[in-house]
Amino acid sequence: EAKGAGKNNFQFFIGQMNTDTNEQLQIESDLRQALERDELVLHYQPKVDLGDGTVVGLEALVRWQHPTLGLLAPGRFIPIAEETALIIPLGQAVLREACRQGREWLDAGYVFGTMAVNLSLRQMRWEGFLHDVDTILAETGFPAEFLQLELIESQAIDGCEQCEGVLHALAARGISLAIDDFGVGYSSFVYLKSLPFDTLKIDRSLLAGTAHSRRDVAVLRAILAMADALDMTVVMEGVETEDEAAMLRTIGCPQVQGWLFGRAQPAHEVGPRLARLPDVACAPPAVRAPQP
Ligand code: C2E
Ligand code: MG
Ligand code: MG
Ligand code: MG
Repeated sequence: EAKGAGKNNFQFFIGQMNTDTNEQLQIESDLRQALERDELVLHYQPKVDLGDGTVVGLEALVRWQHPTLGLLAPGRFIPIAEETALIIPLGQAVLREACRQGREWLDAGYVFGTMAVNLSLRQMRWEGFLHDVDTILAETGFPAEFLQLELIESQAIDGCEQCEGVLHALAARGISLAIDDFGVGYSSFVYLKSLPFDTLKIDRSLLAGTAHSRRDVAVLRAILAMADALDMTVVMEGVETEDEAAMLRTIGCPQVQGWLFGRAQPAHEVGPRLARLPDVACAPPAVRAPQP
């Protein structure tokens, strides 16, 4: 009987695997159309100054309104897009929409600091990337100084010879560069030595244990001290509780992002919650002329 049950479990497992594989294949084949049919949606999560609670930035996080599977989180399709070259047009669409929305908010007098967009290494390796960024900034009139690009630490930049040059070119345009998910990758410090990153986003996993372990808090303190010495801004990701926020205040963490301060939400819900400049001061930077 035990053997029979085991076999059933096994068949169940196979069945589940087929469903997952089918879904994977479906996602892969639908992704192309998603771009054509405009099914990608951006949600925006605030980044907050822990001292005074003001919004110092927004992070654009992509979702896919799939016709049959519902609203899909990026974890369901970004890895697939990265395997195929679809991440390139997908990434373009995300950057363009984030800049368009950012410009709309600036024009309406909303104050939100920087607009952060996540970048896959594969996008940056594409030779047309810099030209694309310039085109999108020119077309949308979004100021480069208000844009932040986030790169995941674990997507090692090594193996990408032109990436260092691309990063310096982005920084030269005034674009802010952030290392995302810092602390869970392998070669964190190499990036800090020579690459023009100005912001560190500490991965949420490093918050685990800090409620009861001095050692875990010491790791955060060490990252803060290092970032300070390097003149980098630190953002703690995934702050969910008041206790976590209190601990981060104690150790002097400047900026936070997390459900405690606001979840990622669609533009029509985020906009009205942003602070607004008084009408007199309501003069966003001029639209940039397209560059030759
Ligand atoms: P990320 O850039 O590290 O973004 C933070 C993720 O943590 C988001 O998940 C966000 O919704 C979630 N989060 C925020 N606050 C909390 C919290 O307090 N607790 C917990 N448990 N989670 C929190 P999301 O939106 O599912 O995105 C997952 C990842 O997908 C992102 O991680 C990013 O690496 C990637 N991603 C999202 N949008 C894009 C995109 O346009 N392009 C690329 N290449 N990757 C993207
Ligand atoms: Mg990010
Ligand atoms: Mg992150
Ligand atoms: Mg992450």
